[in-house]
Amino acid sequence: MPSFPPRDIQAQHAALCRDIQAHDHRYYLLNQPSISDQAYDTLFNNLKELESRYPALVHPASPTQRVGEMLSGRLPVVKHAARMYSLDNTYNPDELREFDTRVRKHLGELAFDYVVEPKVDGASVELIYRQGELSQALTRGDGEFGDDITHTIRTIRSLPLRLPQALDLTLRGEVYIWRQDLAAINQARQEQDESPFANPRNAAAGTLRMLDPSIAAARALRCVLYESLESLGADTTHAALLESLRALNLPTQQGHHQVCASVDAALEVIEAFNHSRHALPYDTDGVVLKVNQRPLRERLGATARHYRWAIAYKYPAAQVHTQVIGIDYDVGRSGVITPVSLFDAVQLQGTTVEHASLHNVDYIRSKDIRVGDTVVIEKAGEIIPQVIAVDLSQRPAHTLPWTPPTQCPACGAPLERIEGEAALRCRNHQYQCPGQLKAALWYFTRRGSMDIEGLGKQLIAQLVEQGLLRHHADIFRLPAQREALLQLERMGAKSVDNLIKAIDASKEKRSFAALLTGLGIPLVGQSAADLIAQQWPRLGALLDAMDKDTLRSTLEPIAGIGPKLIDSLERYLKDPIYRAVLDELVSLGVEGQVAPKAPRLGNALEGLSFCITGTLSEARQVIQQRIQAQGGLIHSNLSKQTRYLVCGDKVGASKRKKAEQYGT
Ligand code: AMP
Ligand code: ZN
Repeated sequence: MPSFPPRDIQAQHAALCRDIQAHDHRYYLLNQPSISDQAYDTLFNNLKELESRYPALVHPASPTQRVGEMLSGRLPVVKHAARMYSLDNTYNPDELREFDTRVRKHLGELAFDYVVEPKVDGASVELIYRQGELSQALTRGDGEFGDDITHTIRTIRSLPLRLPQALDLTLRGEVYIWRQDLAAINQARQEQDESPFANPRNAAAGTLRMLDPSIAAARALRCVLYESLESLGADTTHAALLESLRALNLPTQQGHHQVCASVDAALEVIEAFNHSRHALPYDTDGVVLKVNQRPLRERLGATARHYRWAIAYKYPAAQVHTQVIGIDYDVGRSGVITPVSLFDAVQLQGTTVEHASLHNVDYIRSKDIRVGDTVVIEKAGEIIPQVIAVDLSQRPAHTLPWTPPTQCPACGAPLERIEGEAALRCRNHQYQCPGQLKAALWYFTRRGSMDIEGLGKQLIAQLVEQGLLRHHADIFRLPAQREALLQLERMGAKSVDNLIKAIDASKEKRSFAALLTGLGIPLVGQSAADLIAQQWPRLGALLDAMDKDTLRSTLEPIAGIGPKLIDSLERYLKDPIYRAVLDELVSLGVEGQVAPKAPRLGNALEGLSFCITGTLSEARQVIQQRIQAQGGLIHSNLSKQTRYLVCGDKVGASKRKKAEQYGT
């Protein structure tokens, strides 16, 4: 009988389980991991190690007893035909050799070789073809049950909806995103003030699990397949299977895999791939080593979590050590204070890193980061540098624990900690705190909003400090202050003239929706601003509605505008300081331009309501305009009022079902 472990070991075990569960939650449900994969694996291995020393600790709820990933809770859940396991992983050659020894022991005299193929950093999926038609797609989920993601999978262009043969197949593979596509998604998210995806895997997983397939369609997802539960004729090896899949027009990584006779040969391939992999347009976090002979896999079987015939070899994430030379604070446009660590500049994967966000009070405290400390930094998903850990062995004597500021570093106002959040916030009004003001004006002038070229962060800072910019409306008074602008540092006559031109152009060209988005009213993002601007084409009209008390009643029935958003908008418009500035914008003629309506060509579709879905023969916008030009109305959601559903190639399953139900 296993002896029951001592108290402190039990406590350690419970703490590890809790931590891992919390990281799983952040990773799989929030799509916002707070530690690197490697740090996660370390925690996980510690847990495994502890449980192997004290088997009495193992209980069914331990993270070691299930395959990662959580179900979304919103999508239909479907049982997998056969359990979808995760891969065991290693970070070094010795462990790979141990894997090889285990396989050889199991297989005895049987001859076999290995395949090494890139481990694509994406989300695991299962695709089910019935009679050659793509009929269902699932996430890995908890291994036994997966989320039904058929609607988003159908938007992936490289996946055939019909195979050249009427086969019943259960295929497995990975959905992923190219680096350049992820960069574009993250750029757009940041412009909308949404947090960027930490890595391509979270982006892919998050996109697949969205209810609305049109977002997935716009996001350039890709897929590779590497497994079939059914045999495809002569494919007794993995290499042959990849060829069979290819012959069915299915995307694979064929050409990137290599057959290796021994573990040493595999290690050479692994070493070489660590250099060549960066030339691929997508991220790989390692390779997968698989026994090539498929019939032998059954003999090897699986443990509670992984197959015994495959293992992932992961490359350690690039890390550097550097010293923290200070902790600075960023003040956001809503007053949120973000601590930022300043480093001695270091090179990390081709870029110079001089600072990294420390996120919030809890983050610094939990890692006990101090000025003077040597820290380990790593790029999360090869993108954003993060402080992973403090190297305590390098801590100089007499360092002090960091204490959170009590006053706003920009204006000196007392800071408040928001209930239930880790964030500190400056309590001053946006226009009374230069930190908030700079961030707000920068948000207002950037491309997604008023798009004023040349009015960048540094110039805004200078203008705020000189008292030339006190609020949003002041921007449009700058053209009248040419002399003052010429006095500024680094502003020659040419840049001043260009700036004035850019400000005038912004006033002439930018839409009211763009202006409204740029004000950064909480909850009023681009899509809400578009809906609001459809009701009131100009700023003055919106203010009138507010004064006449018709704002709420007009907005309430609009799908996509919730009560909290209306509250937030009203609060902003009722604030006398904001209101004075908005009135000033109107009096300066800055109201936003009315978006040009498609010219009316006829009224054949007068009063009929349309909903568009799927991949169409022409850009969605073109079709939309054509319908509007004939008097038709476009709605993004299907309702009982919808007369026609315009379907493209890949119709969202839920929309189709609804349309049938409503008799659209
Ligand atoms: P992990 O989730 O990090 O333990 O790694 C296991 C996952 O790697 C699998 O569930 C697959 O989704 C993914 N993966 C990526 N590329 C491959 C590949 N070539 N073969 C098998 N699994 C892969
Ligand atoms: Zn402040």
